[in-house]
Amino acid sequence: MAGRNHLFVPGPTNVPDRVLRAMHRAMEDHRSSDFPSLAAPVLQDLKKVFKTTSGQAFIFPSSGTGAWEASLTNTLSPGDKVLAARFGMFSQLWIDMAQRFGLQVDILDVDWGEGAPIERYQEALAADKSHRIKAVLFTHNETATGVTSDVAGIRRALNDTRHPALLMVDGVSSIGSIDFRMDEWGVDLAVTGSQKGFMLPAGLGMVCVSQKALGLSEQAKLPRVFFDFGDMRKANATGYFPYTPSLPLLYGLRESLEILFEEGLENVFARHHRLAEGTRQAVKAWGLELCARSPKWYSDTVSAIMVPAGINGAEVIDVAYRRYNLALGAGLARMAGKLFRIGHLGDLNELMLATALVGAEMAMRDVGVKVTPGSGVAAAEEYWRSTATPLSKRELPARAPDDKPAAAPAKEKATAGAGR
Ligand code: PLP
Repeated sequence: MAGRNHLFVPGPTNVPDRVLRAMHRAMEDHRSSDFPSLAAPVLQDLKKVFKTTSGQAFIFPSSGTGAWEASLTNTLSPGDKVLAARFGMFSQLWIDMAQRFGLQVDILDVDWGEGAPIERYQEALAADKSHRIKAVLFTHNETATGVTSDVAGIRRALNDTRHPALLMVDGVSSIGSIDFRMDEWGVDLAVTGSQKGFMLPAGLGMVCVSQKALGLSEQAKLPRVFFDFGDMRKANATGYFPYTPSLPLLYGLRESLEILFEEGLENVFARHHRLAEGTRQAVKAWGLELCARSPKWYSDTVSAIMVPAGINGAEVIDVAYRRYNLALGAGLARMAGKLFRIGHLGDLNELMLATALVGAEMAMRDVGVKVTPGSGVAAAEEYWRSTATPLSKRELPARAPDDKPAAAPAKEKATAGAGR
């Protein structure tokens, strides 16, 4: 199909050209004396995105799922009890992994579309007088339903009940896009992957670990080899990895960290919020509902949009893809067919996102959803224009008021402007 594919799944996200260029390199010896000058600063800088100074960053050649596995197996032992809420496919999969590792999971089931239930976590923690719960699993941004939960709230619940359980947070679709504060929120294991806010291909599972969790890892008995923090720590201490790392992804990560720091993390979060809010205005104008049941749970990285009864969300996605070259996110597990998702995270701006809104609108109309043509993009446009930074406040290139273009040589004068 002519033209480019418009990628609006909530990961993988668009990889900026700068990152693509940074990854385009000949392979190198990962045991050379030069290698630590790549790996060591990347490991340090990564911590800034997690907002931790006291934690330790690990990068595994895997994906978010591998980082989940690292967090469980390095800190827990068979039969240990963990507490987790289940409110979407990703929180469900993490629970499933914990069960397959022989952990005993106390599950707080919540309607999909709601966020993590802080009060119920707190009740369960308060009732656990003998501190049998060794870890709390918490999905910051449930990508399947477009729901963001309150990490500061779960830390308060742990503190109020004086419960020593480790706090493990899945930040796969939040870290680097939505505010995340590992140290301030007392997170012990913060998990993410490379293919969302970090704007890279999938292939890196990243986890930042508190000193408390690192200490516990020495007694943890779950089996682990590839994901062992001990092996990784030993090798990382001298700037190396215990096995062959992905060179292109490390170069790409170095560049993507640069991009995030140049924009400034707070500006990155504000941009994601504006893009998400424009999307939400479009959904309202279409007369549709988000899966997220309350504004306090609205996600700034992904909107899960319910389709009307009698419409199959999978058809919207298929038509968008085959007819308009637009990739939208599918409804997952029990949400299959009931919704489609627009991922609005990573290297993205208003006009890019407008293409997704137009494409989604056309595909919805093609399969029989009654939406007014242009209504979604018009609502988003109004919101984005009304909240845009005034141009005068932007940093424009300095130019004196009487600055005139340099006089062109006589020969060129005749053709000046011809190409405009
Ligand atoms: N957790 C969340 C919230 C996710 O969105 C995903 C993937 O989309 C995962 C975990 C699993 O990550 P990966 O697919 O990188 O293994």
